[in-house]
Amino acid sequence: MRQFQFGYETEEKFINSLRRIRQWCNSSMTSEVLFQIYTESLEEEVILGITDMIHRELPNSVYMGTSTNGNIIMGEKSKMAITVNCTVFEYADTKVELLQYPLTEEEARSTVDCLLAEVAKRPWVKAILLNTTIRGMSMSSFCEYISKLPKEIQVFGGGAFSADMNEDEAFVFSSVGKISDHSVVFALIGGEDFHVMSGFITGWKPLGRGLKVTSAKGTKLEELDGRPAYETYYKYLNIKNDEHFFVNTLEFPFFYEFNGINILRAPIASNPDGSLTMTAEIPENVVARIAYGDPWTILEEVHDKAKALREFSPEAVMVFSCGGRRTFWGDAEISKETAPFQMIAPTSGFYTSGEFLRTNEFVNQHNVTLVVGAMREGPAVGSDEKLEIGEEEFSGKVSMINRLATFIQAATEELEEANKRLAKAAVSDGLTGLYNRVEIQHRITAKADELAAGKAKQPASIIMMDIDNFKKVNDTYGHREGDIVLKELANILRNITTEVVPDGKAGRWGGEEFMVLLPSSDEAKAIEVAEKIRLDFLNIEFPKAKHQTISLGVTQLIPGEDSDTGAMRADDALYDAKHLGKNCVKVH
Ligand code: GH3
Ligand code: MG
Ligand code: MG
Repeated sequence: MRQFQFGYETEEKFINSLRRIRQWCNSSMTSEVLFQIYTESLEEEVILGITDMIHRELPNSVYMGTSTNGNIIMGEKSKMAITVNCTVFEYADTKVELLQYPLTEEEARSTVDCLLAEVAKRPWVKAILLNTTIRGMSMSSFCEYISKLPKEIQVFGGGAFSADMNEDEAFVFSSVGKISDHSVVFALIGGEDFHVMSGFITGWKPLGRGLKVTSAKGTKLEELDGRPAYETYYKYLNIKNDEHFFVNTLEFPFFYEFNGINILRAPIASNPDGSLTMTAEIPENVVARIAYGDPWTILEEVHDKAKALREFSPEAVMVFSCGGRRTFWGDAEISKETAPFQMIAPTSGFYTSGEFLRTNEFVNQHNVTLVVGAMREGPAVGSDEKLEIGEEEFSGKVSMINRLATFIQAATEELEEANKRLAKAAVSDGLTGLYNRVEIQHRITAKADELAAGKAKQPASIIMMDIDNFKKVNDTYGHREGDIVLKELANILRNITTEVVPDGKAGRWGGEEFMVLLPSSDEAKAIEVAEKIRLDFLNIEFPKAKHQTISLGVTQLIPGEDSDTGAMRADDALYDAKHLGKNCVKVH
């Protein structure tokens, strides 16, 4: 396999380049010639001129191309508006065939059915490289259907874009179809001696606080934390709901974890009702954060991927990088994330409006991601050479933004930590760590309401208890010993409400009085639990106070009564226990 990469400058220079390729093909083994044409320019005349020249000079070659948000050749963002990457396959068995089909949301299924039928006739296919138009379209069903390809076939590619991100126009074209703004081009590549490897890199990290997806339907993200999803972008990033929304949010996708995988999802559009249309589904109840690129993380991932690629020893590397990544880095530094691949093999590609990659059988549309496809013919030629990648320094915008992002993330983490501590303190009793009176009362009230509404599946009970002759403990052994006794009783209650009745809640009702809520236990079960508490406490030997006792009152909550009535009944039962000699359990 051999790669020729060059920019389009003038017709004359271009024809010379094509003739050089022809000469090379004539003088060596050639099976297939594939041109990939990437253009920031939307001038169709120029594209038609280029494809004409290719057809004339190398009539047996095939070509595919797409409009882009920038082109990559020799591992770097090219300054040229149109670049050409020509791959000459050398092994007799290698085959390349192109297909081009119309593509709209409605046509996704029939288009992919055509592809599946064609692939079924070609058992040699190992990789499918695709260029597709996607702007303003949900690619969910396309991705779903295309995942039905035989699972050993790798799939990767990018979505057409334009130099001006606000421009809606974008197109793809090929030697088997016309320039089209609603089309997909597939290159089927394979053969005995053809090998392919693919993967992806993000390097984006969550920024700011977590927002729960409280309402979502399909690709429509409706609410975050109960508020219209769009408000997040306005509130935190001052991004307005106008025609620039797509471009302005591209650098700030949502980041969330799902099935253990980190996922980035960018909005395609914001709707009048405040919902966001996303590039793909985002499920309800996940916690999403706005994400931002971290240059060090990105480069670390690039270096790891480059090392893995070196083992594979490719002869050509194709990269499909999101236009949002280019906005993030800026043109001065964007090539840092693709240049390391050039140290391994000639690297070309473009800045896309969406990246496609098959992972674990599923073809996903990614956002803000760098998809890498590597090819080779023949056996791997290992290299002992170390991949030398130096420490990176960043300057200007990226460095400044990175420091601010770090600051925001650190401040957010501190606030989240402080919030957690405050939230815990608000419901806890300082001495024992159990719920405080307000909180345990609140839990009982919630349960009483549930029972009243007929929503509870099982009966609930409460246990109220009071340490016997506790004043004497304080008077005889000191307040400190008294505190030890209180804490030990709390430990017993904590243990019982986690181990014995895992849904049980324990709180300090006041002084040396405690309350336990058993949300799914009837009276009989509650008596059993109360009896266990009594015995566990009795068995403790305190440093000075030795053995102490408690009295307990049990009652089952009656549906329809308020929580105070229930608590009063438990108190009555406790009163009975005290009057019947203490150290016992009584039921109302
Ligand atoms: P009974 O068996 O009838 O319950 O008698 P008692 O002595 O336990 O009841 P009483 O209500 O007379 O006394 C409760 C004592 O609990 C009085 C108070 O000093 C003590 N107490 C309340 N809160 C704390 C505390 O946080 N630490 C300590 N050490 N003692 C406390
Ligand atoms: Mg008391
Ligand atoms: Mg007491």
